[in-house]
Amino acid sequence: MTQVLKEQDVAQNVQEILENAKQAAVRAGRDPKQVGVMAVTKTVDPVLVNAAIAQGIDLLGENKAQELCEKYDSYHKEGVEIHFIGHLQTNKVRQIVDKVCMIESVDSVRLAKEIEKQCAAINKTMDILVEVNIGREENKTGIFPEELLPLLDEISKMQHLKVRGLMTIPPVCEKKEKVSQYFSQMNQLFIDIKQKKYDNINMEILSMGMSGDYQTAIEHGSNIVRIGTSMFGQRNYKGAK
Ligand SMILES: *Cc1c(COP(=O)(O)O)cnc(C)c1O
Repeated sequence: MTQVLKEQDVAQNVQEILENAKQAAVRAGRDPKQVGVMAVTKTVDPVLVNAAIAQGIDLLGENKAQELCEKYDSYHKEGVEIHFIGHLQTNKVRQIVDKVCMIESVDSVRLAKEIEKQCAAINKTMDILVEVNIGREENKTGIFPEELLPLLDEISKMQHLKVRGLMTIPPVCEKKEKVSQYFSQMNQLFIDIKQKKYDNINMEILSMGMSGDYQTAIEHGSNIVRIGTSMFGQRNYKGAK
């Protein structure tokens, strides 16, 4: 019985989020169809993830290789894409390359090389985003903006990787104005690189915005927002697998 209620809650949350995302796009003069809403599934029961899929969510974001492998078969995957969005250790790459169609969290040549190697082995081309640490926070994943061009240069030589854009997790900000600045810096970076038209580098996807700030992110050019808490409720780490 609780399970049923929970699925209904998720269904309602999804409808609200889709509507909010649409309105944010319209406010920014953008086509709502250009903004993808991702369900971030960490610690979430696959039953609830499937409830989100039933409401039209067609993009899942996974943080951990092991959790992805455990839950993968439980998802109703028809017409659904899975992106890897968490910190990825090189020794876990092999477990996930056949299960995801994009890795959003590439932030080193070393990781890119391993993805290249594992994708070559299964004859697959992987879409990737480069993760940028736009707030220059210590101990946070992602590269600094000035490291972006050298990294893109290296990756552009790898045959089984296709750069599709950028991803970021900005610092936690109390004020909307502050997070807006980070989003707008990301958008500028995205536009600058796009205009330079590097060989083998596409800038189509800007993945930014989470539960607390996705509408602001959309107003600043985001075309994938990654939503966990607002869709599935507070994460319960104790009970999480
Ligand atoms: C957990 C997570 C999210 C979702 O965060 P919420 O605030 O729960 O919406 C988005 N992106 C990444 C990379 C995450 O790890």
